[in-house]
Amino acid sequence: MIDSTVAPIVVIGAGICGVSTAIWLQRSGHQVLLLDKGSPGMGASYGNSGLLAAWSIDPVSSPQLWRDAPKYLLDPNGPLFLKWASIPSLLPWLRQFMSHANDTSTRRIIGHLSPLLYDSVEQHKSLVRDTTLQRWVRDSKFSFVYPDLSAFNADAYSWKMKALADLVPTVLTGAAVRETEPMLGDTFNCLAVLEGQGHITDPGQYVAELADHFCHEGGRFVKAKVVDLGKQNGCVTQVITDQGPIPCSAAIITSGIWSKDLMKKIGLNIPLAAERGYHVVFQNPSQLPNDPMLITTGKFGVNAMDMGLRCAGTVELGDHHAAASRAPIKLLHRLTRKAFPQLEYSGTDEWMGFRPSMPDSKPLIGEIGNSKVFTGFGHQHIGLTAGPKTGRLLTNLIDGQLPNIDLEPFSPDRFRQ
Ligand SMILES: Cc1cc2nc3c(=O)[nH]c(=O)nc-3n(C[C@H](O)[C@H](O)[C@H](O)COP(=O)(O)OP(=O)(O)OC[C@H]3O[C@@H](n4cnc5c(N)ncnc54)[C@H](O)[C@@H]3O)c2cc1C
Repeated sequence: MIDSTVAPIVVIGAGICGVSTAIWLQRSGHQVLLLDKGSPGMGASYGNSGLLAAWSIDPVSSPQLWRDAPKYLLDPNGPLFLKWASIPSLLPWLRQFMSHANDTSTRRIIGHLSPLLYDSVEQHKSLVRDTTLQRWVRDSKFSFVYPDLSAFNADAYSWKMKALADLVPTVLTGAAVRETEPMLGDTFNCLAVLEGQGHITDPGQYVAELADHFCHEGGRFVKAKVVDLGKQNGCVTQVITDQGPIPCSAAIITSGIWSKDLMKKIGLNIPLAAERGYHVVFQNPSQLPNDPMLITTGKFGVNAMDMGLRCAGTVELGDHHAAASRAPIKLLHRLTRKAFPQLEYSGTDEWMGFRPSMPDSKPLIGEIGNSKVFTGFGHQHIGLTAGPKTGRLLTNLIDGQLPNIDLEPFSPDRFRQ
């Protein structure tokens, strides 16, 4: 139980994880200070696909990766890229990541991620309930788009895993595909449709408005870069920023990919790597999908957003300091043209962001020992989906309440020696 009457709880990083945490802490009666080196919602939370992906329980490191990764790397239209210069420093992470690419690990990870993800649409609705932000959270179906039934069948392992969480699609072929999504070109002839999903139509603006809501309700946001944490008797007492020290009753690290540097400052070497992802927004599009979808051949999400049609995805393994590459952007253009051959638009906007990814695909949610330093980062492909629940779970821990899911698998202490 943290007493925040004398000094605030400081939340470091105003992406979806940090902003959600700040709001739930504030609702629980805490004095909360939210810090970010930039404006809220400008990190990975800015440019993602906007999918509330409760279905994304099966990790990228599935046994299928042994089959798919070499194929993707050799195929110029494959969705996996490597920044070759970063490979030596990424090797330990890659080794650990691939050690999970087996059936046993996949089932274990699914068992851990399912309780975090299954109610994500409801969690977002709870976060915005009785606020002016309710319009952001949309119910939808979600379609996985395949060239044909045999491509869907080749994905059988992934669907067998999703079925463990009762995620069973309706499979459409032939004319039903174009009746459901008329903008799809004739190279795509199979849809696997899940009901009861959700999406956000501008994730960056959503997070910015959540931060405004936090301030409107009495919370404080300060633009400052955190450079270290100050401790006394093993407990954090200060957050040290580029503008000076700030006393705190607890500190919560929700700094996305940059959390790795802060964790290093407190003596923990966390194997967090950047899965770099890209988006292209097609402005003033002539067509929009009826519901969000995933083009499975290119592993990118397609979502009708306020600013246009956003196609976002691909994975490029590399350092988050390295410049953006052109190849993933060109691929998104190429594959979008193939998927939607009739699409016209007035211009495009392009972006790169960093998925903060752990080799075991599980975010770090919990307290580091009894240090009053808490973590809420490492959400890989599902940070928008799981951010609000992460904030609620951290609030439970800070209030000394027993969370309603087992947080042991997410404990940051799994990296303490
Ligand atoms: C192309 C792409 C598509 C994606 N699609 C989806 C999707 O459809 N659904 C989904 O659920 N997820 C998706 N994701 C993943 C999702 O975007 C991330 O998991 C999520 O945004 C991570 O949120 P975060 O709050 O942890 O980090 P971020 O949003 O990156 O926020 C971290 C914040 O911390 C701040 N910060 C960092 N260091 C410091 C410091 N030292 N001091 C102060 N502030 C600091 C940063 O400025 C930043 O604002 C996608 C990601 C990409 C790249």
